Amino acid sequence: MIEKKTLKKTTNERSELNEIDNNHVWHPFTRMLEWDSSEKLIIDKALGNYLIDTEDNKYLDATSSLWVTIHGHRHPEINRAIKAQLNKVAHSTLLGLGGVSSIELARELAQVTPKGLSRIFFSDNGSTAVEAALKIAYHYQQTKGNLKGGKPLKFIAFTGAYHGDTVGAMSVGEIDKFVARYNPLIFKAHRAPYANCYRCPVKSTYPQCKLKCLSKLEAILKKNPKSIAAIIIEPLVQGAAGMITSPPGFLKGVARLAKKYKALLIADEVATGFGRTGTLFAVEAEGVVPDILCIAKGLTGGYLPLAATITNDKIYRSFLGTKQNPDAFYHGHTYTGNPLGCEAAIANLKIFEKEDTIKKIQPMIELLSELLAPLNDLAAVGNIRQRGLMAGIEIVQDKSSKKSYPAKQRIGERICKEAEKYGVLTRPLMDTIVILPPLSIKKTELRRIVDAIKKSIITITKRSN
Ligand SMILES: *Cc1c(COP(=O)(O)O)cnc(C)c1O
Repeated sequence: MIEKKTLKKTTNERSELNEIDNNHVWHPFTRMLEWDSSEKLIIDKALGNYLIDTEDNKYLDATSSLWVTIHGHRHPEINRAIKAQLNKVAHSTLLGLGGVSSIELARELAQVTPKGLSRIFFSDNGSTAVEAALKIAYHYQQTKGNLKGGKPLKFIAFTGAYHGDTVGAMSVGEIDKFVARYNPLIFKAHRAPYANCYRCPVKSTYPQCKLKCLSKLEAILKKNPKSIAAIIIEPLVQGAAGMITSPPGFLKGVARLAKKYKALLIADEVATGFGRTGTLFAVEAEGVVPDILCIAKGLTGGYLPLAATITNDKIYRSFLGTKQNPDAFYHGHTYTGNPLGCEAAIANLKIFEKEDTIKKIQPMIELLSELLAPLNDLAAVGNIRQRGLMAGIEIVQDKSSKKSYPAKQRIGERICKEAEKYGVLTRPLMDTIVILPPLSIKKTELRRIVDAIKKSIITITKRSN
């Protein structure tokens, strides 16, 4: 007989929850040596744009529960859709079977994504969406033989990129802290500079630079003829890098070069998708149609893990083989096309239409810029970056040299902890404070968020202006 310590059925006592969390939960991206659950909030409920902890305190969810919540928590229509699906079937597979929910969602996604993107491959999260995209691009380029005669196929990715934590996604990512230790495991990718204007890679200024940084990308393409399977990019905003916003024309320039050198373009819209940048997908802003589009985070409105890798008919067809020699994409996940996730995603898209979400957020985007502008006067604020409802406030020790605070001071973390006191929850990216609210955010709430962050910056850095 296996003896297992029985946990009490109800663990509502805060101290008990703390003990169990400390003993059993391994938190992601977390130095567990320093973890003490009793110093943390434990979220029990949520409503609208608020998270509610075990002590019934309400906090504005200023980071959309890590960039996923779209129309707010417990939206009645998404709740209803999931409950209705539960009465039908929670899960069945897409291996050898169809599913009503995934069929309907595929039709919707084919309609709302840029023209030509018509084949939807479902998976569970952003990393898996990227892994599938990389393999699809590689497979396509091999099969088509477009690139024959070149060196072995490789990818071009950008400086500071983040595409997820699985090994393939890490290989195209470049945040050293996340990747360095696993270097022997990852495949090498070419690295082109992202248009990071605050720390310009070609030491110039937009727009006089005429996007000179693109010439570095072109140099890589020229130097590696017929051997670039794809260029992978976070369009308009590199999220995890610190909300790095690229200037107008950069994305279009990348797309133009991809086409010129017959490399595919993979748009990783896991973070930027579903309205965050002000259009439903970020690529729309520059009229770019990628060969492959990756979506995840906001796909279900922030309810359930679901992702999709979407491509065009031409790429899809290269996987079919011939009648004599039929081929397949030998890749897939157990929970592919999960009906509960698909129903949440369908409801999410319906709300975009019904509530005219994209139109509704335009004044919020403007208000956010207005609210953020005065923070530029703070001595500790080096740079404010905003695209749509994605914003980052970079805290620096020295404004003129752009020098960061010593990492040990954890200035970003401490500022966010301070903001909790004002009932605002966010999470920094190193020393960049993130404001990425649900699209359902209200004007008064947006004001409260920026105000709390401003006060917290002043308190923690002890510097106003
Ligand atoms: C979050 C993120 C991913 C990874 O998504 P997960 O669901 O965490 O695996 C990939 N790409 C981008 C741009 C992201 O922001």
